[in-house]
Amino acid sequence: MKYSIVTFASHSALQILHGAKQEGFHTIALTIQGTEQPYKSFKVADEIITIKSYADFFAIEPELTNKKGILIPHASLIAYLGIDAIKRIKMAYFGDRTILSVEADRDAQMAWLSEAGLHVPKTFNTPETMDRPCIIKFHGADGGRGYFLAKNQQEFYEKIGTNPLKKYVIQEYVVGVPIYIHYFYSPLTDEIELMGFDRRYESNVDGIGRIAFKDQMGFAFETSYTVAGNTPLVLRESLLPAVFQMGAATVKASRIRANQGLYGPFCLETMVTPDLNFCVFEISARIVAGTNVYVSHNPYSYLRYNEPMSTGRRIAREIKTAIEQNQLEKILG
Ligand code: ADP
Repeated sequence: MKYSIVTFASHSALQILHGAKQEGFHTIALTIQGTEQPYKSFKVADEIITIKSYADFFAIEPELTNKKGILIPHASLIAYLGIDAIKRIKMAYFGDRTILSVEADRDAQMAWLSEAGLHVPKTFNTPETMDRPCIIKFHGADGGRGYFLAKNQQEFYEKIGTNPLKKYVIQEYVVGVPIYIHYFYSPLTDEIELMGFDRRYESNVDGIGRIAFKDQMGFAFETSYTVAGNTPLVLRESLLPAVFQMGAATVKASRIRANQGLYGPFCLETMVTPDLNFCVFEISARIVAGTNVYVSHNPYSYLRYNEPMSTGRRIAREIKTAIEQNQLEKILG
């Protein structure tokens, strides 16, 4: 019996399932009632299993195990099922689950990146110590939702009012250009691969430039960072050595924090400053939605593979290779 690649129908599922089909797997999309249409229309799933809510996953888990299912995580799984539930999953799961708790805790994340020797934004423990404009972020990835800017302590207290109960972090606001770096680390070959770059399209920060400054002055809006989509990007080539070095250092530093360490796809979210330094403000320890821009064509993975290689397909390729080499345990966590 063939192995099945299983994923929740959201986030990067179209790409994951499409890539798995390209590599010859049986594919299963888990849809929440009412979200089936894209997965039917794009014909990426051999099977669609509909459940009422994410929590119903455990009722169908035995069936998925019988189908030799391997579950591929993405941000929607983490956000809607939750890390504690993910730790209870018994079916085959691609990736190291212990890394998720590190990723979810912004302080642990920053410590990890600093230990890797990466340049990170300055963090202020209290609003009283703020000495520059800051971005205030809440814990847990939610696509930038609810973040706000504060130029000083007074503005912080004025704005925090509506969200005082959530845990937050006060981070230096870095002025540069946002560049999201997509990596894939293979524990089978011990190689860091560069899969590509994207930039996010965020509302309303990416729309504010459409309004003349004189008109902005009359508007009472707050800058916000809610992700609406992603666009492709290529990087100035002389920056690539630094990109590879940062990826390798991140993987190495992950090993003291998680069982097997970080492997598979991950992303460093950076601001590139005018002196061409990368300031890393976040890490995603799994596939990011920005890779969706490269289902058919990606300059970097094309250079490496000489065939279209989306991150979804790369995951499936890794699983296929592990099965062929009898090393599946190396990539299941
Ligand atoms: P999420 O955890 O929801 O993925 P991020 O930490 O990636 O959120 O931040 C969302 C957006 O906020 C980023 O894409 C970027 O535009 C902006 N941002 C985050 N951190 C900083 C920072 N330190 N300086 C400037 N902009 C930032």
